Amino acid sequence: MEHSKEISLLTFGGLGEIGMNLCAYKCKDEHGKNKYLVIDVGIGFDATLPAQNKIIVPKIDFLEKHRQDIIAIVITHAHDDHYAAIPILWHKLKVPIYLTPFPAELLMKKTDNPEIKAHINIVQQGIEVDLSPFKVRFINITHSVPESSALSIEAYGQRIVHTGDWKLDPDPVVGQVTDEKSLIELGDKGVLALVCDSTNILEYGGSAETRSEASIVKGLSKILAAEKGNRVFVTSFSSNLARMKTCFEVAKKYNRSLCIVGRSMMKVHEAAEAVSYWNPADHVLLDAEGANEPRGSILYICTGSQGEIGSSIEKIARDKHHCIRAEAGDVVIFSARSITGNEKAINAVSNNFAVKKVKTIFPDANHHIHVSGHPYKEDVARMYEMIRPELVIPVHGEAKHLLAHCDFARSKKLKTYYLESGVELALLPTGAKKIGTFPCGKQLSEGTELLDVDGRAIQERHKLASGLAMVTIYHNSVKVDTLGLQDNPGPLEKDLEAFVYDTMADLLERGHEQPSGLLYHQVVSNMVKAVQGWFKDKQNRKPVIRINIMKKLGTTRRRTNTEETSEDNRPIRPS
Ligand SMILES: [Zn+2]
Ligand SMILES: [Zn+2]
Repeated sequence: MEHSKEISLLTFGGLGEIGMNLCAYKCKDEHGKNKYLVIDVGIGFDATLPAQNKIIVPKIDFLEKHRQDIIAIVITHAHDDHYAAIPILWHKLKVPIYLTPFPAELLMKKTDNPEIKAHINIVQQGIEVDLSPFKVRFINITHSVPESSALSIEAYGQRIVHTGDWKLDPDPVVGQVTDEKSLIELGDKGVLALVCDSTNILEYGGSAETRSEASIVKGLSKILAAEKGNRVFVTSFSSNLARMKTCFEVAKKYNRSLCIVGRSMMKVHEAAEAVSYWNPADHVLLDAEGANEPRGSILYICTGSQGEIGSSIEKIARDKHHCIRAEAGDVVIFSARSITGNEKAINAVSNNFAVKKVKTIFPDANHHIHVSGHPYKEDVARMYEMIRPELVIPVHGEAKHLLAHCDFARSKKLKTYYLESGVELALLPTGAKKIGTFPCGKQLSEGTELLDVDGRAIQERHKLASGLAMVTIYHNSVKVDTLGLQDNPGPLEKDLEAFVYDTMADLLERGHEQPSGLLYHQVVSNMVKAVQGWFKDKQNRKPVIRINIMKKLGTTRRRTNTEETSEDNRPIRPS
């Protein structure tokens, strides 16, 4: 029987948020069995999470269930929001990974897992890879790292162009210019759907020249020319290899050496050297090597453009860096945009520098020190012209970006669909059609554990922000411990212990009047209410209350599992 040749798109992350990109294409193989191709496995960052490490990944239980039918993971480029979740989610996937040399080099640096390394398949741009029932071609497109790839994904004669992150840059500083010839050829053959980056769709970018990476040489030069004899620091995304190279060129012009500060940035530099995007003759200093050089002889490029706690620039601002210092008169250039949610952290760094009389400079009309790696309206319009798709599916953006991208596609007379995560969308010449949904969401990556961002554990942590009182009731005594409720241990514990002791006596008294006594859970819930009341009356506070009754008010012995599970129904009697 002839089976359906429909291709559908399933989205797990990167829609409704910036980062955490992960989606999959699905179509049937020649036996009519569903097969999946996963595109990008990226991390995100949620500054609001009550955790030290705020790295999030998409929830992919659906894919884990269908792991046997995943043909491969394909990675578009070497940015953390596109490949860095591979080591975190590997135990759920374990399928071959296809990517070009530069992201492959970085992935190998990110993991020690030999199993992941054994599944890496390095491909060259321009060559078609048979991932039957799909055929995939990586097409070079400019971004802020070299080897960003738009993907041509073909099955049963239907073609999808998945752009990944991109912009059109006539002078990207590192790597090749966009392979427009191949994109136009795909357009000539016919493209069913363009699945396209939406990050900058709300803005016009101005002339092609001012959008180019090479254009910021002028802006950075202006600052360096004025800062002779002072230390100059640039902070940018560690993965922005193009910016690193731009800084190197500008430093050279002003007789400074470039010093790379921060582990993640040094790794990117190392990977670039390994795959020949950095000429070893273009010598740079690393970290401590630049610490004791004369003040005006170095341009430092540092991690921490988002004000991340513990990043190089954040530590330098607090004089906590292990070797590099900033002094009055020095300058810090933020050569990056601030991501929504990070403004407060960036501001804190800027204030710490202000106290030290170190100037901070941010991108604005007078300081052309940053260009985006994503496509503005003009670039997207040019992409439509080259690809001429039947329909446009906006991805990679917050809701406002995706919705604006839909409007933009409609204004160009193209069919479109506002897609969210957790949806399976059939891509049809007549338009896109929602054909199902599946559970999705965000998970905090913490050590070896993944916790649902809207799950019980994180909810509990939010609650714990109000402090915790732990009350342990023994046979003849009560012990109270508190966390986050007082700066110095004081009379609180003693007062509360006396209150609990008396309350317990009352409860047991009342229980005595009932033929079966009070049940364990009744004692606990009564005690929680009583302690809550105590905090309300005495301190007008609402901490989390935890009650432990250590006994069967009598003997103490190791509990068995059966006892533990039946604990709620255990009668408690006065001894
Ligand atoms: Zn991205
Ligand atoms: Zn990117």
